[in-house]
Amino acid sequence: MTTPYNPERYQSMDRQSLWHPYTRFSALNAGPLPVITHGEGAFLYDDQGRKYLDAISSWWACNLGHGHPRIVEAIIRQTRELQHSILGNLSHPRAIELASMIVGLFPDDRRVMFASDGSCAVEAALKIALQYWYNMGQTEKTKFVALDYAYHGDTLGAVSVGYLEHFHKPFKSALFQVFQAPSPCCGTCAFHETEQVCLNECFDTMRMLLKQHAHELAAVILEPMCQGSGGMRIQNPEYLRRLSQLCRDEGVLLIADEIAVGMGRTGKMFACDHAGITADIVCLGKSLSAGYLPISAAVARTSIYETFRDTPEDHTFYHGHTFAGNPIAAAAAVETLRVYAEEGIVAQSAAMGNVLAEALKPLASLPGVRNIRSLGMIGVVELDDDKEGRGTRRAIQVRDRLRENGILLRPLGPVIYVMPPLITPEPVLRYLVQAVGKVIAETALA
Ligand code: PLP
Repeated sequence: MTTPYNPERYQSMDRQSLWHPYTRFSALNAGPLPVITHGEGAFLYDDQGRKYLDAISSWWACNLGHGHPRIVEAIIRQTRELQHSILGNLSHPRAIELASMIVGLFPDDRRVMFASDGSCAVEAALKIALQYWYNMGQTEKTKFVALDYAYHGDTLGAVSVGYLEHFHKPFKSALFQVFQAPSPCCGTCAFHETEQVCLNECFDTMRMLLKQHAHELAAVILEPMCQGSGGMRIQNPEYLRRLSQLCRDEGVLLIADEIAVGMGRTGKMFACDHAGITADIVCLGKSLSAGYLPISAAVARTSIYETFRDTPEDHTFYHGHTFAGNPIAAAAAVETLRVYAEEGIVAQSAAMGNVLAEALKPLASLPGVRNIRSLGMIGVVELDDDKEGRGTRRAIQVRDRLRENGILLRPLGPVIYVMPPLITPEPVLRYLVQAVGKVIAETALA
């Protein structure tokens, strides 16, 4: 029997039993958190009947919004048929369909290793890269290059290649060493370049690292086109083109973490499509199932997969999670990809991305705004910050006021960004940007 719903009692049970991720005690002390009870389209509703625009697609996962009838139906259908069966020495129809649909999204031959969360897909990708070189007899190629400001998840391997001081400092002693290359970010270029005169100086260290260390490098890993949690740092596609070529020239694998930026978020199916490149291993997650159930994947070139034979020596990939490729999650993902294809979701994202870019422009001249930038359905307003963290505090004020006005977002330090569902209607998108601008202006006056 479930507990009858009573908002006050649930608030109190929440306080006594739930450990909220990425949530400061001070935020909990500031008052009760909204308890979200249902969602529809781009909106979420709490237990007090308040309606919120989900301006970050629930941690960038719900690209098709909430309560999508087709995906809900696919989940129910699958739950009745088969709720779980493993993929070790067995298979099931939804995993087969999904793998083949994912492979169909790539121009070359691929194999799909399923995982559950994004971090697990990153762990799989790192281990595939390591074992690939081991299988090839190049056992000295064991190191990784990652970008400053990278984020690849919260498991220890993912944190090693995506170390953010303010999140991960307590775990530093448990991490493996990686080579760090400077983060490219066209909005706030460290070389004071604009895109028109960009010479990609930010690429020089990467080039030097690969030239000097290729013999010991397994792979370079990055979030293509936009580093998310590190501050929505948008790259020039030329950076990616050069990196792809460099990796090929130096014999180093390229891992593209498309967990946040894939699935149409940037106005293309994959962020790598902006540069016309394909990485050796591609990580997918979050909106692979439109955020309905946890499922993720490391999608490797078949030439990599082929080295994992067990003859004449055993090179089997001894890696897998209990729920990797779970049938219900896979059914949600299969239906998601069908909806994408039938409803032209990626084209819709590109069109709405243009609306977002236009709508953001007036915000650039607001007091205390350092920079605006956008890529597809990612819109960013970066505030001026200082040593005292005034920009960060102002961003928190903006977040709180927007929440009072029925808009949910989560700034990253002084970086206020929106990543609404790709199906957000144009008037709602315009309203969102206007509301963000209005509140930023109000906090400047305050
Ligand atoms: N990689 C990137 C680029 C991400 O943004 C995230 C999560 O935000 C992850 C990996 C980790 O995914 P998950 O939280 O599902 O483990």
